Amino acid sequence: MTESVGVAIIGAGQAGLATSWFLKQAGVEHVILEAGRVAETWRTRRWDSFCLVTPNWTVKLPGAAYRGPEPDGFMGRSELVDHFQAWADLFDAPVRAGCRVSALDLDGDDFVLTVPDAALRARKVVIASGGYQRAYMPPNAELLPGHLTQLLAEEYSNPAALPPGAVLIVGSGQTGCQLAEELHEAGRRVILSCGRCPWAPRRMGGHDLVWWIVESGFWNRTPAQLPSLAARLLGNPQTTGHHGGRDLNYRTLHAAGVELVGRYLGANDRKVHFADDLALSIQAGDDLARTFMRWVATLCEKRGLAVPWEVPPSAGFAGRTEADLEKEGITTVIWTAGYRPDYDWVHLPVFDEMKFPIQVDGRSAVPGLYFMGVHFQRKAQSAVLYGVGEDAELVARHIIEGRT
Ligand SMILES: Cc1cc2nc3c(=O)[nH]c(=O)nc-3n(C[C@H](O)[C@H](O)[C@H](O)COP(=O)(O)OP(=O)(O)OC[C@H]3O[C@@H](n4cnc5c(N)ncnc54)[C@H](O)[C@@H]3O)c2cc1C
Repeated sequence: MTESVGVAIIGAGQAGLATSWFLKQAGVEHVILEAGRVAETWRTRRWDSFCLVTPNWTVKLPGAAYRGPEPDGFMGRSELVDHFQAWADLFDAPVRAGCRVSALDLDGDDFVLTVPDAALRARKVVIASGGYQRAYMPPNAELLPGHLTQLLAEEYSNPAALPPGAVLIVGSGQTGCQLAEELHEAGRRVILSCGRCPWAPRRMGGHDLVWWIVESGFWNRTPAQLPSLAARLLGNPQTTGHHGGRDLNYRTLHAAGVELVGRYLGANDRKVHFADDLALSIQAGDDLARTFMRWVATLCEKRGLAVPWEVPPSAGFAGRTEADLEKEGITTVIWTAGYRPDYDWVHLPVFDEMKFPIQVDGRSAVPGLYFMGVHFQRKAQSAVLYGVGEDAELVARHIIEGRT
């Protein structure tokens, strides 16, 4: 027999659990279908020394805001997983662990969800399967010789788990920079293949960077305020929560001795090639930093504060355009060039040309089908711990009020 449920949420990360929390408060019966365990992404797709990049005070999950002793600290992986598990236990979240949904179809007014060994019918479905789903591989990634150890950032655990030798990291967002720093500090030679990424200092004018992001309204930007829909894919500013939170960007990595090169272009048996665009990428990052600082300046003007920082003049770095794999002892390549949506298992026409869900406040054009945790779902803050609760409340309210 096929089981029927009123509401099925797919995914027990922050987006699914936050929606569940609001439904639970209103007494709406539902299930959460989770491929792994609660907070599976934080458990198994983050490296051993992972810690948050946003301070603990940004954990504003409904019913589970951070109340610990270090609001300005940066929780490590296990503390964060414990926080999620305690939250789910506290409100008795109806999670079915180990239950991957491999297909979602519509049959009349009902959704049909294919789950291990069964099918489940639901009147309403919330897809909360993650904002960072499929690792993006740049063109020609497949050209790297097979003898190299290659892994995605989400497969990396620690320096000792890699074979001895130099490491090429392709991708210079927050993750690429953090892995470059960790491997460099562990004594590895690191080459970082850089793209265009914003950056800003960790602390400005006595406040953390994220304080400025929140107070200036930068996280309230909507997709309509972006220069293009492709800008949804832009990374968050380079910085780190490690060592209590400090600057981490092209300039700090260069000063520490990490070699910066341009974008990955391809490889042959002996050599790996990079574009001659390092200076342009750094310039683009500086320009993005200036855009952010205009938001900060507007805030400062309103509050009568001094603008706390100015983007420094051009870094003037030039990177070489090839490296000899064997001569330089490069044994490992870590890919961390961003993510793309992955909803191939959702057999409904609700996606745009970039494969992002088409939705308004989480509601798709198919009655009863909702999304949560999408990048820029409503705002820049939609897919982070700080902002997910606001979106979840709207989605849950729509479900509770029974509208479609
Ligand atoms: C490296 C990295 C660092 C980050 N650091 C921060 C930070 O410091 N601060 C911050 O606020 N945000 C951070 N984020 C952003 C964001 O908070 C996380 O990506 C967060 O995990 C998103 O939560 P989510 O619930 O949308 O997705 P996820 O946490 O990915 O949860 C989705 C869940 O759905 C399950 N699932 C997926 N597909 C299916 C399926 N078909 N059937 C059943 N279950 C399924 C998965 O197993 C998973 O448990 C970071 C992101 C990354 C990638």
